[in-house]
Amino acid sequence: MVLEDIAPIESSPLRPTELPDPHPAPGEVRLAVHTCAICRTDLHVIEGELPPQKLPVIPGHQIVGVVDELGAGCTRLKVGQRVGVAWLRHTCGRCGFCAAGRENLCEAQRFTGYHADGGYAERAVVAEDFAYELPETFGDVEAAPLLCAGIVGYRALKRAELPAGGKLAIYGFGSSAHVIAQIAMHRGCDVYVVTRGESHRELARQMGAVWVGERADDMPVRADSAIIFAPAGELVPAALEKLEKGGTLSLAGIYMTPIPEMDYERCVFYERDIHSVTANTRADGRELLAAAAEIPIRPHTTTYPLAEANRALQDLKADRLNGTGVLLVGRDP
Ligand SMILES: [Zn+2]
Ligand SMILES: [Zn+2]
Repeated sequence: MVLEDIAPIESSPLRPTELPDPHPAPGEVRLAVHTCAICRTDLHVIEGELPPQKLPVIPGHQIVGVVDELGAGCTRLKVGQRVGVAWLRHTCGRCGFCAAGRENLCEAQRFTGYHADGGYAERAVVAEDFAYELPETFGDVEAAPLLCAGIVGYRALKRAELPAGGKLAIYGFGSSAHVIAQIAMHRGCDVYVVTRGESHRELARQMGAVWVGERADDMPVRADSAIIFAPAGELVPAALEKLEKGGTLSLAGIYMTPIPEMDYERCVFYERDIHSVTANTRADGRELLAAAAEIPIRPHTTTYPLAEANRALQDLKADRLNGTGVLLVGRDP
């Protein structure tokens, strides 16, 4: 499913297209894609909130598949092995950020389904070093949402500095939020959810949130940590007002509408911190996958055939989707 030009998802801009199979360069592997989850970032790529890097492009950066061709020099992975591909697909490995374990800030980073073709396709290519081994616990559909919703959500949770047994407020209850809520609860934390969609509130209640509502103002307590998953800047002051002294607000989105002016005393003073979140490191990915298998996390998914990628993304944009949308691509999983 190829994007030729930036366009609103309502115009169904992804077109089914026959392309020759790609072949892996040295150090790369090729996957026969089984599933690929959809993500709000795909919408930002398609609709142009993120400046275009490659057009035409095949979106998709939560890819589960089986290695079917090895490039020269690959030693870690084997043909037939199941792996996952995530958003981060290249870093320089030499700069100060890479050396300090913050490769998510590397200037040379490149992303799957944005700088290079992604997983809305039957074949995908990735550097061997950026492919993740996937725990057996998860089927091809369940594993896909872990690769972005899970990994980036996990980094957002780390950046929220949630204390043991603390109170976590979550704004927006889409695919990342519903994965991360399971980790927080597993750690004995109370989860408070603010979200507009009634079906999202219902899912949050079912999953064991101690409080679920439509507006931050109604939340009965101040949270120790908060994560905003919704790309809505107007949530920032409201979330900060509902944060305990010394608390941390983590902003999980790659894109956010402008943050309105806010009152220093009510929103920022008392050592409340705001942490933005930029992609993830490979270490975050490995930690998330290990935690997911141990808990185990159970992603809620809605599946669509690959050919219906436009409809899946339209459902995501219109908040008609609970959990994560997953495209079924190859062999029936
Ligand atoms: Zn670097
Ligand atoms: Zn994503």
